[in-house]
Amino acid sequence: MRLVAPYVFASIATLGGLAAAHADPLGECTAELEAHGVTWKKASRPGIAHPVEVTSALGGLTLTSADQPLVIDCSLAVSLAEAGHYFRALGIERASFSSAYSRRNVRGTNRPSKHSFGLAIDVHTFTGPDLGTLRVDRDYEQGLGDDVDCLGTPLTQGGAVLKVLQCQLVRSGLFHLVLSPDYDDAHHDHFHLEATPWGDRSALRATTQAIH
Ligand SMILES: [Zn+2]
Repeated sequence: MRLVAPYVFASIATLGGLAAAHADPLGECTAELEAHGVTWKKASRPGIAHPVEVTSALGGLTLTSADQPLVIDCSLAVSLAEAGHYFRALGIERASFSSAYSRRNVRGTNRPSKHSFGLAIDVHTFTGPDLGTLRVDRDYEQGLGDDVDCLGTPLTQGGAVLKVLQCQLVRSGLFHLVLSPDYDDAHHDHFHLEATPWGDRSALRATTQAIH
């Protein structure tokens, strides 16, 4: 049961394109976004190497915030668009974020957070027609799973959906970092999803299949 083969061929072709088109990294990245059916507008924010304002769903997932447009680095947008099938397979159509681009340091340090570069997004709720709305602060069950069995034994259906999602995002290779309430108290109410800068990334496609 592996769906990897077509992605491998696509990846090789795309990476070949990456090398050839190195002079225009934003063009390469936005071409990849458009290949995922994503629409976007040019944006400009200090600190973001390849800023885009996403104006459509990403891989079938609509990400909204109460107070800001979705302005992120194109590389993060590509990761979210490719990860969309994990969300959709779990019945998730919409998600809310509190913070995407934000100039700030990692808490308790002088290091700029990846949010400063548009490479990270904090996602708090997940909604779908059969799921209702799952909230990370209420429905995520902490302390499940280990390195061998990521999933563990969730007690609730909502907890199971959030844990499957988290495990799949971690294993997809699309994100440099996926932090959950298990990481520390600052993450008690959201998933922090962080992508690798476009010029440094090797994986454009998810390497594991979606679990329903
Ligand atoms: Zn974050």
